[in-house]
Amino acid sequence: TAETKSIYKIASIPADGIGPEVIEAGIAVLKAIAKKKGNFSLDFTEFDWSSDRYKKTGSYLPDNHLDTLRQFDAILFGAVGAPDVPDHISLWGLRLAICQPLQQYANVRRTRILPGTNSPLSNCKQGQLDWVIVRENSEGEYAGQGGRSHQGYEHEVATEVSIFTRVAVRRIARFAFQLAQSRPRKLLTYVTKSNAQRSGMVMWDEVINEVSKEFPDVTMDHMLVDAMTVRMVLHPESLDTIVATNLHADILSDLAAALAGSIGIAPTANLDPSRKNPSMFEPIHGSAFDITGMGIANPVATFWTAAEMLEWLGEKEAGEDLMKAVEAVCEAGIKTRDLGGSATTKEVTAAVVAEILRS
Ligand code: ATP
Ligand code: MG
Repeated sequence: TAETKSIYKIASIPADGIGPEVIEAGIAVLKAIAKKKGNFSLDFTEFDWSSDRYKKTGSYLPDNHLDTLRQFDAILFGAVGAPDVPDHISLWGLRLAICQPLQQYANVRRTRILPGTNSPLSNCKQGQLDWVIVRENSEGEYAGQGGRSHQGYEHEVATEVSIFTRVAVRRIARFAFQLAQSRPRKLLTYVTKSNAQRSGMVMWDEVINEVSKEFPDVTMDHMLVDAMTVRMVLHPESLDTIVATNLHADILSDLAAALAGSIGIAPTANLDPSRKNPSMFEPIHGSAFDITGMGIANPVATFWTAAEMLEWLGEKEAGEDLMKAVEAVCEAGIKTRDLGGSATTKEVTAAVVAEILRS
């Protein structure tokens, strides 16, 4: 019987700043791992949806971008944001205009200390910080509900309304419990602010406690978000899987990335767990215009998210092999400046490609 080789169609959206530099690097290592494995191939199509497009045409996206993206198995995204475009325009114009309609309601952010790298926490060594943060990615504080009246006047009033629905909280809670259950420690910490915010946050607490009954083998505990920042810094080893709202998890995952050594290593997966729509994979970091064009952007966050993309596509072994190669290169000291090394983006990429093809 002839073996059929899977071909995955990947949409790449490099976008702004260092986005194109890290996506080029990511595609190079993905091609290397596909070549090495030989049992699947990747077919990339690049889209020029970016702040440059916005400045030329007044729009980040063509009208039919969702139909276009639905023809792909996954999306590899760089970074969006430009110095001369307000951040809320670029974020809503591109990233959220993909995530929200494609129902990528689970945002998964893994963090651990890679070999050969250091946490800024002196009490924290490799193995003592190994977290996965699950961020509710469809509503909450970023629901876009609000408005301004009497704009610019002294009596101006602005609202920024958080939307929490039982359906969305339950589905993210289930997703987080399943993820916690699949990890060795089976430990889930849920984060809210239900002492000060007495509607949505209290509903979160209730729904999570209900869902916990479906997962008796998972140990659960609760933290208020302010106390959570302290625990992350003082007792990193006490945490494993974490679930929080859109805003809280956004902030906590930046802290997590910094505690693991650099924002330049942290990956993000925006998942539609129903698999009706393609999921989107990106580094956590932004467009970083301060280092754009200098050739020193750390590509590891993009490599890590590429590995997660392979796992999501069903190529678990390829994803694991890719991460092993990244870890070997880090351990050998081939690192960019943000990790205390002196290698360029291209040197790190070449080293990972060589490691993949060698091992
Ligand atoms: P955004 O507004 O989209 O979040 P930003 O311009 O605020 O983007 P980030 O990309 O979040 O900035 O980066 C914050 C800092 O971290 C910058 O000083 C940047 O140089 C550094 N940084 C971010 N990503 C990387 C990377 N991949 N490699 C090295 N340094 C990085
Ligand atoms: Mg930023």
